[in-house]
Amino acid sequence: MRDFKAKTHWGEPPWRIDFHPTPRPIPEEVDFAVVGGGFTGLSAAAWLRRLEPLKSVALFEARSLGAGSSGYTGGITLAETAAGDLPGLGDVLAGFSDTLREFAMDCDLTLPGVWELGRSAGLPDSPISWTDSGELRAARLVPGGTVDPGKLVSGLARAAEKLGAQIFENTGVENAEFHEPLRLDVRGSVLRAQNVLLATNAMSLELSGLARRAQPKFTLAVATEPLAGAQCAALGLESGKPFYTIDFPYLWGRQIPTGGVIFGSGLVDLSDWRELADLDIAAGEAAELIAQLEHRIRGLHPVLHHVKFTHRWGGPILIADQWHPVFAQHPRSSRALVLGGYSGHGVALSVYLGRWAAEVMLGRRALPDWASA
Ligand SMILES: Cc1cc2nc3c(=O)[nH]c(=O)nc-3n(C[C@H](O)[C@H](O)[C@H](O)COP(=O)(O)OP(=O)(O)OC[C@H]3O[C@@H](n4cnc5c(N)ncnc54)[C@H](O)[C@@H]3O)c2cc1C
Repeated sequence: MRDFKAKTHWGEPPWRIDFHPTPRPIPEEVDFAVVGGGFTGLSAAAWLRRLEPLKSVALFEARSLGAGSSGYTGGITLAETAAGDLPGLGDVLAGFSDTLREFAMDCDLTLPGVWELGRSAGLPDSPISWTDSGELRAARLVPGGTVDPGKLVSGLARAAEKLGAQIFENTGVENAEFHEPLRLDVRGSVLRAQNVLLATNAMSLELSGLARRAQPKFTLAVATEPLAGAQCAALGLESGKPFYTIDFPYLWGRQIPTGGVIFGSGLVDLSDWRELADLDIAAGEAAELIAQLEHRIRGLHPVLHHVKFTHRWGGPILIADQWHPVFAQHPRSSRALVLGGYSGHGVALSVYLGRWAAEVMLGRRALPDWASA
């Protein structure tokens, strides 16, 4: 497909996705089609089969699994949405942990809490004291932690396939006709589906009906070389808690098992999601933002003055109206659901709401009250 290049120039995150589905012929008809092989689509596909083993499920991914946000994420697991807690949202982290347990997935999940950092309201005993447009200090500890996103993508996909979902990589859905049954154009043929979940996040916004409701952006991250224990202690990061700022300029980060630290910041505006295909982190605005980020990191603390960077990368995020995730019926069919637009807070939420979407599609649960907001 023209809109999905096999290879993008988004750089290399420190994660590895080691699962690829078994090749198989595309079916002519399924009970449930899932479009998008990130955390949302994979969680929904696995849960559909887990809850209704007799219903057929096919998941279509335009490139490789995790090739959107999910393979390029920072992997910080958060309890709330980007708009905070929403009425009836429930316990995201407990639901996320349940899914990992249910599918026996080891994703290096730890939940030590997440530091919110601020320039004006730091705790008197803040372990963090960095220089970044003022003094950046820990202001509050909120629930959450970290996960290995490569293991999360692989684990969900492995579970979904083991439960009987048919997963197709390099198979973009080019168009949908919203009749009954729904019809999807896939690799030159037409697949009929009783129900469809569109989990395409920042891409295919015409297909998902989100073109006017959400803005695609591209955001950047870097990882440092391994730091010694004493350096981590000097930075205030020895407890393994990830962090994000609650004022601007924005900065988030976490440690990785090598001993390195990931830092992320910066947004490239896009006028059309198709610009993602040509975005190159070594050129233009993305390269400038990475250079600014590295300069900022070296200025945060003396132990980082000469730090080397081992990974540089970026990935898409979808910012929805009022930062509310979108979880709604497709405007053109009650048999199609749209889920995504987590505005950069989607790791735990996508897996949690992917299960909820499966339950809605099976008629076992209603959409949440905030869904059409
Ligand atoms: C650099 C970065 C850091 C981040 N850090 C964090 C963090 O620390 N914590 C946090 O909570 N969130 C974070 N996020 C956000 C989080 O990663 C996302 O919200 C989450 O991964 C979204 O998952 P998803 O499955 O909805 O979307 P995606 O992972 O984007 O999946 C959508 C998939 O759909 C596929 N697709 C699109 N169109 C079609 C089509 N027509 N046919 C078939 N397939 C199609 C795409 O190729 C893609 O694989 C970060 C994001 C980025 C980019």
